[in-house]
Amino acid sequence: MNSTLQILERLGALIHQSVRDDAARHGLQPIHVQVLGYLARANDYSDLPIAVSEFLGITRGTVSQTLTLLEGKGLLTKEKDAKDARLVHLHLTAAGRGILQDSWAQKMEITLRSMPTDAARLNHSLRALLAGLQRLNRQRPFGVCRQCAHFLTEEKGARCGLTGEPLRQEQTVRICREWQAL
Ligand code: SF4
Repeated sequence: MNSTLQILERLGALIHQSVRDDAARHGLQPIHVQVLGYLARANDYSDLPIAVSEFLGITRGTVSQTLTLLEGKGLLTKEKDAKDARLVHLHLTAAGRGILQDSWAQKMEITLRSMPTDAARLNHSLRALLAGLQRLNRQRPFGVCRQCAHFLTEEKGARCGLTGEPLRQEQTVRICREWQAL
């Protein structure tokens, strides 16, 4: 087996194990922690049940059950969209954010920061690999708003070229289901 493939396989297994451990510490299932982790990074266009389903590759039924459980435990709240009452935005509560403290993702970030490698090159290579696999699996790419082909910087601040709406600063570093490669 190709050694890069072996490394990726080991990383995948390690992340799976770490998510299971994070969930068990809080009496949750891995999918619950994955949904909370996604929502902590999703922007205003992507904090929707359909986006959770697309990002994690799980059915809408599973998403619905998971959201009901997380809401019941006080880990997230639901809010109707101000313009379209059919849309429901999902927000983490302080308790929901607390579940993500000391998670595998935080440990991964610390490890990445301490590495001597060129972080930009590593990011570029991994993104290319991910994009290729997503194309094969017909999945939405998702990506950070600032790195999107629709992202516009204007005098008054940032704007989404797709929707024409202004973007608050904190939204520009979040991930979006409408993301397009440059
Ligand atoms: S600029 Fe791109 S990533 Fe940002 S909100 Fe618009 S579509 Fe989403």
